[in-house]
Amino acid sequence: MRERVRQQPAGERIKNFFEVALGLSQEQAEKEASRCLQCKDPSCVEGCPVEIDIPAFIKLIKEGRRKEALEKIKEKNNLPAVCGRVCPQEDQCEAACVLNKKKVPINIGALERYAADYELIEKTENRKQKTGQVLSKVAVVGSGPAGLTCAADLAKLGYKVTLFESLHLAGGVLMYGIPEFRMPKKIVRNEVEYIKSLGVQLETDTLIGRTYAIEELFAQGFKAVFIATGAGLPQFLGIPGENLNRVYSANEFLTRVNLMQAYKFPEYSTPINIGKKVAVIGGGNVALDCARVSLRLGREVSLVYRRSRQEMPGRAEEIENAEEELVVFKFLTQPVKIIGDELGFAKGLECIQMELGEPDESGRRRPVPVKNSNFILDVDTVIVAIGQSPNPLLRKATSSLKVNEDGTIAVDENFMTSIPGVFAGGDIITGADTVISAMGAGKRAAAAIDRYIKEGAK
Ligand code: FAD
Ligand code: SF4
Repeated sequence: MRERVRQQPAGERIKNFFEVALGLSQEQAEKEASRCLQCKDPSCVEGCPVEIDIPAFIKLIKEGRRKEALEKIKEKNNLPAVCGRVCPQEDQCEAACVLNKKKVPINIGALERYAADYELIEKTENRKQKTGQVLSKVAVVGSGPAGLTCAADLAKLGYKVTLFESLHLAGGVLMYGIPEFRMPKKIVRNEVEYIKSLGVQLETDTLIGRTYAIEELFAQGFKAVFIATGAGLPQFLGIPGENLNRVYSANEFLTRVNLMQAYKFPEYSTPINIGKKVAVIGGGNVALDCARVSLRLGREVSLVYRRSRQEMPGRAEEIENAEEELVVFKFLTQPVKIIGDELGFAKGLECIQMELGEPDESGRRRPVPVKNSNFILDVDTVIVAIGQSPNPLLRKATSSLKVNEDGTIAVDENFMTSIPGVFAGGDIITGADTVISAMGAGKRAAAAIDRYIKEGAK
């Protein structure tokens, strides 16, 4: 039987912001590790975008060698405590595990977290891999998973890396987007410290495109630039009422709560103005996070999603958690208008009922409105969490940077943009995606930058 992570009980956890998942005990981890077949040709590794040697680290856990298991993971993954917590393993390594045929794949995510959390108990020595080569300077723009990974891999190769971040704290979405109860900020700080310990210099409060232009970075002696500025531009529905008070983008709502610590008001003097009944629009991880944050702030919450549960793109664990916490799911429901009061505050959400039609280009069944089925949801706060687009500032400030129609930066197979020596990866080239795919891009871009510089950057 698959071992499941221990959790705070739902009734308790909705009253606090402490981490929901408590991880596996040693006994559970070793038992789960014993189920691994140690496949000769392990399909799970193929499912991992950063190609962790999964059977090898699982074997070390089985033998009680937790520290060595962590070292094995760190050969490939610079942010293991993050991935063990937020990767959609059910779509990646666990989907590829041979035991999936019997519907009980190894709980690889929980085992990764178990190994990674060793560092919370014992301080490990951060080993720098010196190469002895002449150091060139490389600039990395944006300190989310893509930027952190690229910076770490380049530092391990011997480059002198400066990581520029526009916010006052590093970590990208891990820091300002994903809430404390899912991604404790202590973990993110630990991972950032590890990357700094490799020699990466972090420059926060520095907005590339404003503080320095890309050309200025080359003038400062950087031989290559990696752009990892993410997808932080909120999308809206384009329905009437989106400019009313107490209508938030998920991005603003989560930044205020996580980064500005609104959940600790009055200890922090940065509260957030929300009413008593919140509607969150969307069905992905971002929407689930907004809903569960609102619950913890003591509000009644409805999650409004235009398809059914089956099509929800959020992580399976987070959907289950939200259900246990009693978020009210309004499936097959499409908002058409936000209704305001005489003072300009939201006071209701007009919706229309949907039914599922033929599959669309994403393969999911397309929602179709049911005629004359409009109804009003009694809410006084609306949070729009229907997706994010790539951050536009840098591309606007850099006219020679080629972009695609959807605003993503165009790159070749080596992650190089239209400007020689300027590379890009993560959500800025794919649109909103996952932590592990951003990390995979950071890793492959670091290898490409290394080749580019060694082949003689001008
Ligand atoms: P980001 O993490 O967005 O980092 C970009 C960084 O660049 C930011 O720190 C930004 O401040 C900085 N920046 C932007 N412009 C500039 C500039 N001009 N100069 C300097 N710095 C700049 N994925 C999962 O796999 N699992 C999950 O459970 C999950 N949950 C999520 C929940 C939320 C609320 C959100 C918003 C996303 C979630 N994701 C999840 C998606 C995942 O977080 C992203 O795909 C991932 O963070 C992308 O990494 P990135 O490095 O490309 O960009
Ligand atoms: Fe173990 Fe599954 Fe990977 Fe085989 S595919 S090595 S059983 S985790």
